[in-house]
Amino acid sequence: MIELKSPQEIECMHVTGRFVADVLTQLGDLAEVGVNLLDLEHHARSLIKARGAESCYWDYAPSFGNGPFRNVLCLSVNDAVLHGLPHDYVLRDGDVVSIDMAVGIDGWVADSARTVIVGAAAADDLQLVEATEVALEAAIEAARPGNHLGDVSAAIGEVAGRYGYPVNLEFGGHGIGRTMHESPHVSNNGRRGRGMKLLPGLTIAIEPWFAKTTDEITFDEDGWTIRSADGSRTAHSEHTVAITDGDPLVLTRRA
Ligand code: MG
Ligand code: MG
Repeated sequence: MIELKSPQEIECMHVTGRFVADVLTQLGDLAEVGVNLLDLEHHARSLIKARGAESCYWDYAPSFGNGPFRNVLCLSVNDAVLHGLPHDYVLRDGDVVSIDMAVGIDGWVADSARTVIVGAAAADDLQLVEATEVALEAAIEAARPGNHLGDVSAAIGEVAGRYGYPVNLEFGGHGIGRTMHESPHVSNNGRRGRGMKLLPGLTIAIEPWFAKTTDEITFDEDGWTIRSADGSRTAHSEHTVAITDGDPLVLTRRA
């Protein structure tokens, strides 16, 4: 079932979204050569605790993954793209790091991710990150009443095609609100004019992610970490977005 949110409820989600945006800004600034992934995780934990927010990842136990998740961040480095576990790893020059976080405040959830390059960035890594950001903005632009969900998905696929990156369709965006994952699924490719009609009050997390040279994935033995099957580097960008009567409202926009 798809639950449309009132403007008041969207404002509640915006409060959460602003917090998520602020934390991702801080984590992006912190992610430098020589910093341990665990430092990022612990910084996020302390900010979440101080704010009285609740991590959506902690104790999350979907059908995949070995047991409940016991972190507040997904940190996915280089060929890892989604659900990477914060672990004892010191960031190196040129590492590509996806930072993904979802929390609830007063029962309303926001989910956002960004990819940062640590130290000196390789040109093709910069381009990969840029592609996910351009795709995300194109998808947001399509998130308007009168359009269909397929327009949002197609916008992502079109950008990927322009950059020459293949698109995996197993993991994508999702409805969001009182919980992290609600209906509908928001695929990272689709056909314009297809799928449900977008209505004001629909709130979705849009999250394009691409690997440079494959649309296939592998899981680590931890059951969580998803990597590109060919080891090529990956990037991931995500915002929580509300469809309104007017322009799309990005609830997790960083300042
Ligand atoms: Mg996320
Ligand atoms: Mg998400």
